[in-house]
Amino acid sequence: MSANIPFAGLTVEAARRALAAHLKDNGIESPDLDARLLLGAALDLDHTGLATQAARKITSDEATVIATYTQRRISHEPVARILGRKEFWGLDLCLSNDTLVPRPDTETVVEAALDILRSESRANQTIRIADIGTGSGAILLALLSELAAASGIGTDIRVGALATAEMNAHRLGLAGRTSFIQCDYAASLSGPFDLIVSNPPYIRSADIAALDPDVRNHDPHLALDGGADGLTAYRIIIPQAAGLLAPDGILILEVGYDQSAPVGEIMRAAGLTLPHPPKADLGGIHRAVIGRKTAF
Ligand code: GLN
Repeated sequence: MSANIPFAGLTVEAARRALAAHLKDNGIESPDLDARLLLGAALDLDHTGLATQAARKITSDEATVIATYTQRRISHEPVARILGRKEFWGLDLCLSNDTLVPRPDTETVVEAALDILRSESRANQTIRIADIGTGSGAILLALLSELAAASGIGTDIRVGALATAEMNAHRLGLAGRTSFIQCDYAASLSGPFDLIVSNPPYIRSADIAALDPDVRNHDPHLALDGGADGLTAYRIIIPQAAGLLAPDGILILEVGYDQSAPVGEIMRAAGLTLPHPPKADLGGIHRAVIGRKTAF
């Protein structure tokens, strides 16, 4: 099934078509898009470059790189891992082995935060944000890209993730408003924070083996495995966050498809109120649960 394609000497356009057909034959779900992204990365060409150079010939060095990327993709390594980057909230983020590939679903957390802050006219204030288990820094950096006067701290237990998040902050010109610290969830943070966000691990341990191979074999399990019932991280993070939030502070947590009710209960048990319904993602799944610390 994975016979090598002789890419050398093909035109860029012929290589793109051959690669897409090959990915399709090997059961890859979005062959056209993946072929364009992988070929673009191998040739260092963007979408426009691929079109304007459609007729030029692939060199043998380029063919070697394309063949390597092809082999990696048909063994179900995600395109984002092969490229080492992924777009999130319109930001180009670098990834490493210690970071999850940011998902579009997670943009729901960013949207929920911005909706609330804007509706309360707090979007231009000097608010302080914490992102617990920041990974690539995706949520924190997306928020800071929208909130000009805000600053934030990202935590992660993996130094590799923190180095990646820090690099992303620099590349995006947001380093002056961010800091990153290594700790277990929020253990080393000092409040108060106006907004705390997190996309913690929430997959039930027993469900990990059944995940798509793109996820199971390439995302760090530490960022996926939520323990026996998938809720272990929430039982740690929510009480920590309740103690760190400023009066009127908001906690927004990403959850799995069936977890908004139990996570809401853990928030109530920690003394938070739930003034907003969970926010749904594009698939209609309750993805972001929102709690608030009431002012006394
Ligand atoms: N949304 C991820 C997935 O479906 C899981 C991320 C997480 O556990 N936080 O693979």
